[in-house]
Parts: sequence; structure tokens; C-alpha cells
Amino acid sequence: MNLLYPTASDWQTELRQCIEDPAELLELLELPATLLEGALAANRDFALRVPRPWLSRIRKGDPNDPLLRQILPLGDELLQVPGFNTDPLAEADANHTSGLIHKYTDRVLLILSGACAINCRYCFRRHFPYADNQLGPRQWQAVLDYLHQHNQVSEVIFSGGDPLATPDNRLQRMLSDLGEVPHLQRVRIHSRLPVVIPQRVTDTLISALTSSRLQPVLVLHVNHPQEIDADVIKACVRLKQAGITLLNQAVLLRDINDNKSVQKILSETLFSCGVLPYYLFVLDAVAGAAHFDVDDRQAQRLVGELQSELPGYLVPRLAREIPGRPSKTLLLPLQPGQVD
Ligand code: SF4
Repeated sequence: MNLLYPTASDWQTELRQCIEDPAELLELLELPATLLEGALAANRDFALRVPRPWLSRIRKGDPNDPLLRQILPLGDELLQVPGFNTDPLAEADANHTSGLIHKYTDRVLLILSGACAINCRYCFRRHFPYADNQLGPRQWQAVLDYLHQHNQVSEVIFSGGDPLATPDNRLQRMLSDLGEVPHLQRVRIHSRLPVVIPQRVTDTLISALTSSRLQPVLVLHVNHPQEIDADVIKACVRLKQAGITLLNQAVLLRDINDNKSVQKILSETLFSCGVLPYYLFVLDAVAGAAHFDVDDRQAQRLVGELQSELPGYLVPRLAREIPGRPSKTLLLPLQPGQVD
């Protein structure tokens, strides 16, 4: 048990006990008070939110800690940067009915929850209109009607916010309803909760996720190996043993994970817990996150170096989402010495 930041035994209590006050965060982590002014200013635009199990993995007194930098509001977020906007993936154009986004032919994304256990400063949905995308009973029926009418859709993606902020009994009911749509084959869940609050992985969650005829795939979101502690490993092993396919997608973030050694350790650590590195995304150009951006060429060289040091199945695909394209766009790795 972590004695510095006592953690609760259940995930709902952890959610309620998230740190949301920038001054408290700085005090707990023994960080300079000079960070407070910027943190308070950026917090007004996109609130700080960090659970205690995540806090326990941050080095005290280090403003450059890679886990701290993902969650600490900074004055830099308020800079207006050309090309960065509030809807970088043009999701509003694909938001056909409340809580449903249909961008790619065979996949539909459902916004199950606007809540997250952690607010990641680079999040491309930091300005998303969650209030307009609630899935009450009427909207849920509209989603089911939409899916019944679109028989090219074979996979439903639970997204958010964090879809695993949804209670287990509701998840189970939704999966049961989706199982009645004959052409659906898989459910994919994109969640950071098993990493940021590993207590989220309970027997009831596992039985909910495996209760329908749909094949479950869980895509985690881990950016740095320091995020993976003993509790996260245990959670991944339980999910894997239940037959759930585990993948990871990360975002390439300047001064956080934009180097070969971090990426290599991340891939190897993920694989040792049964998780395959799947995508490494370059940053989506969301307003407030420009200071995390990594140049495309640097990203391609980084993945080229990874390719020369890891087996292919441990090298994530470098990609970006370009609105209007029928799938993610891959960025080809540049090999060491290759002229671009
Ligand atoms: S949706 Fe995902 S990336 Fe965005 S703040 Fe929530 S957990 Fe972080």
C-alpha cells in the first residue's frame, strides 16, 4: 500500500478523492509555488484532475517528472497557436446522433461517459461538448436504431471521457443490447482507468466485459513506463487471463516520451504484462496542447530507431488522424542514416 497518498480499496472512492486543486497538488508533490499562477490560469480552461494512485508514481520535487507533465496545468496552454483548434479531428461533422460518432465505415464510436479519472493536458477532446452527447434511455435507443440500420458496422468502440467510468451493471446492459445487433462482432474499449486507478479492474467488470457474444478488445493508454507499477501489472494480467485482447496506444509528447530509450522500455514493459503496443500517435492539434508537439521527422526517426532495436511486434505504428480520411494515416519510420 502506498503510505504517502493512502489509496482507497475501491475505484469509486478513488474517483471521488481525485486531486482537483492545483495548490494541493503542488504542496503534496513539494513543487515550487512559482508554478501556481500558471496552473490556476490553465485550470480555468481545463480543470486539473488526478487520482492518488497516479500521484504515487510521480517523483516528488521534480517539475519535469514525465507523469506530472501529463497532468499539471501550465500557462503555456493559454497561448494561441496557429493551426491548433478546439475540434482538431472535426468530430462535430461525424456526431450523427447524441453520443455516437461515425467516422470510419465499419466502426462506430460511442461516448459512454464525459468523465475521466485523470485529465490529460494534451487530450484532443479537452473541448468536446460532452453535455450534448449524453446517452440517456432515449438517446441509447437512437444509437441502437442507428446501428441496426447500418449493417456495414462490425465494431463498436466505447470511448469518452473514459467509458470505464460507467458502472458495471450499465456496461453489461449496453453490451447485452449491442449483442442483439446481428452484424456487430467486436466491442473495443478505449480506457485509461485500468492504468490510472488499477482497482477499476474487478471481477464484476471482467464479467461485464465478457458477458456478451461480442469479442472484447481493451485499448489502454500508457505513454511512459513509469505509469506501470505492480498494481497495473496485476490488473493487466487479470484482464488477459479473462481472454480480453489488450493493446496500447500512446501519444508522442515532447520531453515526456520522445526518446528511444523510453519508448523501448515502454514497449517491453507493456508486452511483459500481456499488452501489445499498437499505435503511437503524433499529437492532435488541439488548442492548449501545442507545447507537447513533436516534429513529424523527429517522430519518424524515433520509430526508425525503435525498428532497428526491437522485434516488429513491439514497434507501435506511428500514425495521425486526418479528418475526412477513411482510416488513420501511417507515418513511415525513417531508418538511422536514411535521408528524408
Ligand atoms: S479522454 Fe483519455 S486522454 Fe482525454 S483526458 Fe480522458 S483519459 Fe485523458
